[in-house]
Amino acid sequence: MPRHETDYDVVIAGGGAGGVGAALGAAKAGARVALVEKYGFLGGAATNAQVLAYCGFYHQGGEPVRAVAGAGEQVLAELRGMGVACEPFHSPTTSNWIVLLDPEKLKVALDRVLSAHGVDVYLHARVAAASRTARALESVTVAGMDGRFRLIAESFVDASGDANLALVSGVPMRTGDSQSRIQAYTMPLRIGGLAPDTRIDRARMQQVITEFNRVSPHKINRTDAGIFTRVPGTTDFWWLVVDRAMPDLSSNSFTRAEQTGREMSLQLVDLLRASVPGFENAWLAQTGPQIGVRETRHPAARYDVTRDDVVQGRLREDGIARAAWPIELHSEAGKPIYEHVGGEGFFHVPYDALRARDLDNLWYAGRVIGADDHAYGSIRVMGTAFATGEAAGVAAALGAQGRDPVTAQAVRRELLRGGALI
Ligand SMILES: Cc1cc2nc3c(=O)[nH]c(=O)nc-3n(C[C@H](O)[C@H](O)[C@H](O)COP(=O)(O)OP(=O)(O)OC[C@H]3O[C@@H](n4cnc5c(N)ncnc54)[C@H](O)[C@@H]3O)c2cc1C
Repeated sequence: MPRHETDYDVVIAGGGAGGVGAALGAAKAGARVALVEKYGFLGGAATNAQVLAYCGFYHQGGEPVRAVAGAGEQVLAELRGMGVACEPFHSPTTSNWIVLLDPEKLKVALDRVLSAHGVDVYLHARVAAASRTARALESVTVAGMDGRFRLIAESFVDASGDANLALVSGVPMRTGDSQSRIQAYTMPLRIGGLAPDTRIDRARMQQVITEFNRVSPHKINRTDAGIFTRVPGTTDFWWLVVDRAMPDLSSNSFTRAEQTGREMSLQLVDLLRASVPGFENAWLAQTGPQIGVRETRHPAARYDVTRDDVVQGRLREDGIARAAWPIELHSEAGKPIYEHVGGEGFFHVPYDALRARDLDNLWYAGRVIGADDHAYGSIRVMGTAFATGEAAGVAAALGAQGRDPVTAQAVRRELLRGGALI
């Protein structure tokens, strides 16, 4: 039995971009908010899997045009105040605009922003169970460092990336895409010790991978040398090249993927050190803390964003967030597929994509929202996750005030008041 209970308007599972956006949205709308995060820090994939760039804040194209403001901009402003430039950076490998991150400063920036809005943050705390009636959640049971406790609320947001709150609430869901394929998992590498003037030559990196595949029992599928950049303000090299396919979401599969990924990473750095000028003193500075997860579960929503919505750049009256990142699919490890956003360079995420199909007081944020196989490859990025999170938080706050049902128009009004772009 949980040992104690606390009452909130809104409880949020997960402290990534979606969860932080939700917490800010709900708090700005006047709710008493709890955010529960299983790690000892906020940030989601940006800090737990070294995904060191925010995508989705800008449209694709020659000039950086903003798609996301509101909660996402509050986080960038906090980072700027800490000396992180947060300037849009035109990625030479993908031709998109990204915002490069300093993960340690990001952890602190997120703490500060949520604290300034009075959000109760529970770290080292995992949503482990939920109680519900036929149409509503009543409470979540949280496994913390000192045992279990219960959080009661009027409204809930699943921003766990993996739909863990929906899972323990018994919401119907599919795993992976419509054919049950799960997008490739990637272990991002941070490599230190490079000579400061080292120029990274893609052709040379491809040769290293060819050599790796010749000598290693494990294979790297990204023979194009994947995605890489220098970590801003350092000489470190950041590399997305070690992909692992996983048959399912079991702890066993995660264990194997993590262990193999680490072995491969060390071996790869050994090869770099032995054969690439500038890498003579290189060392593997970091993997993880966990392997990067692109896709897990998709709980039933009232609307799934479609590929057509993305490629047409569809705008709608019930839109609650702009999404501007192209479709980027990694269905086959090492072979990403891209498709552009049509129209004005962004599309609207409709309110119903955030609503649980069978529960009236559960909203989805970030990569949990409803989307088909293709659209998911666009909406999952972190800039967009801030925007869908903020909308989910606003809706949850309005729901907690007894606005029944919460309308897309009411959510839009509150979002605009909070500085969001729609
Ligand atoms: C290799 C790789 C590269 C990527 N590159 C980029 C990129 O460059 N830019 C970009 O914007 N996106 C990128 N993405 C996608 C992006 O990282 C995710 O889709 C994004 O993080 C989604 O944000 P989120 O908040 O929905 O989920 P997450 O970032 O996954 O956050 C979910 C949070 O919930 C917590 N959580 C999970 N279960 C529980 C529970 N039961 N109780 C409490 N807490 C829980 C997790 O610890 C985590 O902090 C990449 C993804 C991968 C895997």
